Amino acid sequence: MAQSTSSKAALVLGAGGFIGNHLVTRLKGEGFWVRGVDLKKPDFSTTEADEFVVGDLRDQALCRTVIDREFQEVYQLAADMGGAGFIFSGENDADIMHNSAQINLNVVERCKTHGVGRLFYSSSACIYPEHNQLDPDNPDCSEQSAYPADPDSEYGWEKLFSERLFLSHRRNHGMEVRIARFHNIFGPMGTWQGGREKAPAAMCRKVAETPDGGEIEIWGDGKQTRSFLYIDECLEGVRRLMDSDFMGPVNIGSDEMVTINQLAELAMDAANKKLSIRHIDGPLGVRGRNSDNHLIAEKLGWRPTKPLRDGIAATYAWIDHCVQVAQTSQ
Ligand code: NAD
Repeated sequence: MAQSTSSKAALVLGAGGFIGNHLVTRLKGEGFWVRGVDLKKPDFSTTEADEFVVGDLRDQALCRTVIDREFQEVYQLAADMGGAGFIFSGENDADIMHNSAQINLNVVERCKTHGVGRLFYSSSACIYPEHNQLDPDNPDCSEQSAYPADPDSEYGWEKLFSERLFLSHRRNHGMEVRIARFHNIFGPMGTWQGGREKAPAAMCRKVAETPDGGEIEIWGDGKQTRSFLYIDECLEGVRRLMDSDFMGPVNIGSDEMVTINQLAELAMDAANKKLSIRHIDGPLGVRGRNSDNHLIAEKLGWRPTKPLRDGIAATYAWIDHCVQVAQTSQ
């Protein structure tokens, strides 16, 4: 569909992914004309993008085709990523570094050539140094703690490199960039099986698949801490950042820190089931992590507030439905 002359145009890269697909819906609701690009269409719904290009952003020719004008807003979410099982096993390190860096290099080059109103880049809490996240009760993820850098994964190093890539284009070419460090975004229509799913979805799936009174497995001792942000609040933060004069990097995450055992309890409550937990070895990541929300509150006058319990209830309902559909079709 051609762009109407009145609407603002947004380009969403990674529009077939979890956050990108939700973002397209949000931007359409705000009246944007949207072009989405991804290796694949969304897994669980039809895209609302006006145009959706299936293609590989590692390919410069594809980037030339999809970034063919000055978009008012570009959202760069495309990355080779997954949950702990994908990022921390070490088996995917070369792909993660190479593929995501190549996407970002191509995108920034095309945006430099054509100009861009504002470019959003989704960085990650995984950039924070491991030594500040050893105490599960007191992790330090304030934005300025990123340096001296020591992320615990190649995924984090690539994100840090790409933050600097975009920031250098701001410095040398005046590109208007906005950078957020997402902390564990979750919600309906996210990957829930197959190895790339993250902790909230994996937990909801395990609980949904297990009969009341049964047992689920959790990687590690379950005392590692994290916070999880519901998708709607993530998008609210992204849109507020894009509309602000603050370029970041800034955390977009929840500061409601829980242990993984507590996360399991929330999923069980949502299911109204009582299950026992067996702790097994598995890839873990840092010992503790929580979003520090002082900077976002100061710069945007806003911070996420939705209780984790509510987000897990909504996500559980969706995953439970997916599990039931999968079981009946077997
Ligand atoms: P996702 O995996 O669902 O979405 C990423 C999308 O990028 C996928 O649809 C994938 O097909 C696409 N992609 C990968 N390689 C591509 C390529 N070569 N060409 C075109 N498309 C390609 O992940 P998400 O959860 O939606 O995350 C979106 C962004 O936010 C990512 O950059 C991720 O690193 C970042 N992030 C997410 C979280 C989170 O908790 N979900 C946390 C921190 C950072």
